[in-house]
Amino acid sequence: DIYGNERRNSRGVNIGVAVHLDPLLHRLGQWAKTRWQAAPVIGGEKRREGECREIHAPYDSFQQVGHVYWATAIQTAEALDLANKGFVRWRERPVEERANCLKRYADLLEANMEELMAICCREAGKTMQDGVDEVREAVDFCRYYALQGRVRFADAIALPGPTGESNELYMEGRGVFLCISPWNFPLAIFTGQIMAALVAGNAVIAKPAEQTSLVAYRAFELMLEAGFPPDVIQFLPGDGATIGGNLIPDPRVAGVAFTGSTQVAHMLNRALAQREGAIVPLIAETGGQNAMIVDSSALPEQVVRDVIQSAFTSAGQRCSALRVLYIQKDVAERTEALLAGAMQELSVGNPEWHCTDVGPVIDQKAQASLEAHLSELDRSARLVSQTPLPESACSGHFVPPSAYAIASIAELKAEHFGPVLHIVRYTAEKLDDVIEEINAAGYGLTLGIHSRSESTAAYIERRVKVGNTYVNRDQIGAVVGVQPFGGRGLSGTGPKAGGPHYLLRFATERTRTVNT
Ligand code: GLU
Repeated sequence: DIYGNERRNSRGVNIGVAVHLDPLLHRLGQWAKTRWQAAPVIGGEKRREGECREIHAPYDSFQQVGHVYWATAIQTAEALDLANKGFVRWRERPVEERANCLKRYADLLEANMEELMAICCREAGKTMQDGVDEVREAVDFCRYYALQGRVRFADAIALPGPTGESNELYMEGRGVFLCISPWNFPLAIFTGQIMAALVAGNAVIAKPAEQTSLVAYRAFELMLEAGFPPDVIQFLPGDGATIGGNLIPDPRVAGVAFTGSTQVAHMLNRALAQREGAIVPLIAETGGQNAMIVDSSALPEQVVRDVIQSAFTSAGQRCSALRVLYIQKDVAERTEALLAGAMQELSVGNPEWHCTDVGPVIDQKAQASLEAHLSELDRSARLVSQTPLPESACSGHFVPPSAYAIASIAELKAEHFGPVLHIVRYTAEKLDDVIEEINAAGYGLTLGIHSRSESTAAYIERRVKVGNTYVNRDQIGAVVGVQPFGGRGLSGTGPKAGGPHYLLRFATERTRTVNT
């Protein structure tokens, strides 16, 4: 069925138990000294011609991880020509064949899990648990979209009509899809966008985030190994504004899938609207100003565990992450005290160590912007707790997990993409105001609710406009096929990644009527 209920997600690795951890550490150790390289891949050929940049570990600026050649304007033009030709044949391939490529690629991701984890750690600062989850999500996207492709694209749907006429509805690819992926899920989202576009019958130009070309490149090599034709997939690392600026105005770009900031999504939307020619879809998954509402019936220990998980996992660098915690006044003091204690237990540091909970932020720019926000909060807000940084943090881009009490979500003028939690106290009679101010912020991605009153939870859920609501648990880590993920408003256009309708936006519908 379309929900894939008989499908299984990939198996996890429990790094908390020695039988899983020890062999994993051993295999990861083999990649400890490797330097990786990335370059544009056009028609299956690696092109080392453009400007070359070094990549350093975000947790240790002295550690070189590899280098990347940026795509030139000429290469960008070549990639589009080739992809446009590749599309014509790829669209004709039976969906079964396309889906089989996804399946083979998923198997290759699993077989290369440790290397991919090692790059995610060294290049993006991902902790071991985040690395495991990253590879699993990539694998799950492939298998889920392979199944969705078969269900949605294999057969035309016969429609009723008058005698002597046959009517059918079917789906086909749109053309060349430009897939622009973020650094915070440099493998999973990179993979998810591309696989969705490919199984739906499109050719793809993949533009990875500047910060994470190395893992994207390795994944791209595996795509070629899995049998995706070299003219159908093109890889262009480099500067987003330049590559996008060259591609978006071209009417052969038949769709854009983008995950990243709301600001860039607006720019892409304007650029697509201004160009002549076909009107094409932008699939954008952007930021959030995500809230959790905790009432006085909630279990404080569970709240604290879920707040820590939601706000500080991946150093808060998830668009789903909790940013504003609303606590009912009666329980606020006790919950804040418990939270402050739990924050002191977090271990911040080198993500290569398996006991690290919170790694670095992605780069110097992110660190500086978060530090500026913390200084502003120091002046204007009350500090609830801040996890101390270890001495070793000085050579990397670390930001201390921090919680500050503020008056309202309205004080936050931007999304602060890091380990900073804002806490607002509210009284029960002001619940409607809370709901209103969350909606007024304009985002609509995740919402956490902690309450043992089902009617309160339902009341809040009906009124706060978001894409994903989580009740009495943490609010991150959406699982493919289980929690289809994506927001509305400033948080994106939908459709939901890892959901049964995702592929449809990558395709175009056709109706065939034959007089028989
Ligand atoms: N799907 C991820 C989660 O639920 C977030 C994706 C993102 O940050 O872009 O945690």
